[in-house]
Amino acid sequence: MDLLRFGAARHLQLFTTTYRSMHLLKNKAFVDGKWQHAANNAVFPVTNPADDTVIGEVPDMSEKDAKFAIDVASKAFKSWRDSTARERANILRKWNNLCLENVDHLAEVLTAESGKPLAEAKGEVIYGTSFLEYFADTARHVTGEIIPSPWPNKQILVTRHPIGVISIITPWNFPFAMITRKVGALLAAGCTCVIKPSEDTPLTALAAVELAKQAGVPDGVVNVVTTSRNNAASVGKLLCEDPAVGCISFTGSTNVGRILYGMAAKGIKRVSLELGGNAPFIVFPSADLENALDQAMLAKFRNNGQACVGANRFLIHESVFDKFIEGFKGRIGKKCILGPGTKAGVTCGPLVNKMQVDKVSGLVDDAVSKGAKVVVGGKVAKELGDKFYQSTLLVDVKPSMEIYHEEVFGPVAVCYKFKDEAEALEVANSTRGGLASYVFTKDLGQVFRMSQKLEFGMVGINDGIVSVAEAPFGGIKESGIGREGSKHGVEEYTDIKYTLMSALDK
Ligand code: NAP
Repeated sequence: MDLLRFGAARHLQLFTTTYRSMHLLKNKAFVDGKWQHAANNAVFPVTNPADDTVIGEVPDMSEKDAKFAIDVASKAFKSWRDSTARERANILRKWNNLCLENVDHLAEVLTAESGKPLAEAKGEVIYGTSFLEYFADTARHVTGEIIPSPWPNKQILVTRHPIGVISIITPWNFPFAMITRKVGALLAAGCTCVIKPSEDTPLTALAAVELAKQAGVPDGVVNVVTTSRNNAASVGKLLCEDPAVGCISFTGSTNVGRILYGMAAKGIKRVSLELGGNAPFIVFPSADLENALDQAMLAKFRNNGQACVGANRFLIHESVFDKFIEGFKGRIGKKCILGPGTKAGVTCGPLVNKMQVDKVSGLVDDAVSKGAKVVVGGKVAKELGDKFYQSTLLVDVKPSMEIYHEEVFGPVAVCYKFKDEAEALEVANSTRGGLASYVFTKDLGQVFRMSQKLEFGMVGINDGIVSVAEAPFGGIKESGIGREGSKHGVEEYTDIKYTLMSALDK
């Protein structure tokens, strides 16, 4: 701990006036409506992946702090659950408006800690707030049912009730939107929460809840417990196992999701798991190739490839393969401008941390050593720093290569040539991941067959971006359980109660 403080102090000398002037930069966790230290005063530094400067320090909270936050959320639930849907909708709408008013300030914080270009950070804030707006509207439409009973003197009443305290664990790749997508829905349902953001990106979470406080979210209803990676597992365990928690809502890797699911099972807790993907991007001969290429750029290089719905395997029909690769190469050369996220014109920032760089490099090196051909990229862009990876295009990829099966989660497009629809389907479905998939074709029958047979929670036809607040986002197989966004997103945070009303004729 002292060592950590010492290291942070050394790095803090690099602290620049840019960070000091950031309007929404916080250096404490947020519990019970107050900015709080860790009980043992521990802190950890948050660094900018573009240049390793320290943006600030935040509390390195432990189980004791997380327990306090759960208790606070549990107490707050007793009154929040009795608020009216209209009151909750109004608060969500105010939070949405404040986020939109502060889009530039939120984006500055987001870019500083995640590395993504400023324009992309603003895009994430706008996308993330759309969930607050959507759930503000949805709050007043969480309804029950009266079901015709088989008895003349009885009524079957079905009502929905907020689950209670929700534990939220979020990743670094969309540090704003992954929070609003969950918190917007659970607040609309009448639940309270404790959020544990990633070690890499706690500052965006804190900035977001500062605005939630200004919007009138009552004390204790939304809490943020910041932890370093050292404390993630122990705090995560408590967030899953504490009896006061009713549901664990997690977005992150399938491996961690599996651990949390196991812990939640001990208390028969509800879970909402948004896990890793392995999206196929399939291009058939009838496709509009220019559109397919434009969408391929979005599906692969948005967020520098660090997206769960990002295209992970390009399956291209043999008749259009060479043309597609030529077009892809040209677009990557023109549109992927690597550099720090604050520099004008940059479209691809650094990867978030050294672990990500090592993972992406390892997968590419393994593929190349087994015969894959690099069309563009394929290396760390050392001239920019140790976290910048060149936008990469690989062909001649085979099942013997790790990259054929793994979620790359980086700026590497992996291309595979197929002969017919049956082969495309077989390759696409040969994974335990089942989040997003993309199909490019003008053949209507093929659209229906692919929509029917692809084993994925989401299918984009002639489009590389599927996520929107109005639609149910989520995966099947090892990509998760539950849905976020849409009316289903709120229902995740409610329990159904059946009341039998009898003796109505007496
Ligand atoms: P990760 O390692 O699973 O981390 C996600 C969160 O879990 C972070 O807050 C992390 O904290 C925390 N964590 C790590 N180990 C934990 C443990 N043992 N107990 C409790 N919490 C723990 O995932 P990531 O590498 O940050 O994110 C990338 C993954 O997320 C990819 O697989 C991606 O596909 C997936 N993802 C899915 C969606 C979706 O909606 N389906 C959206 C975005 C990302 P620290 O970061 O501090 O370690």
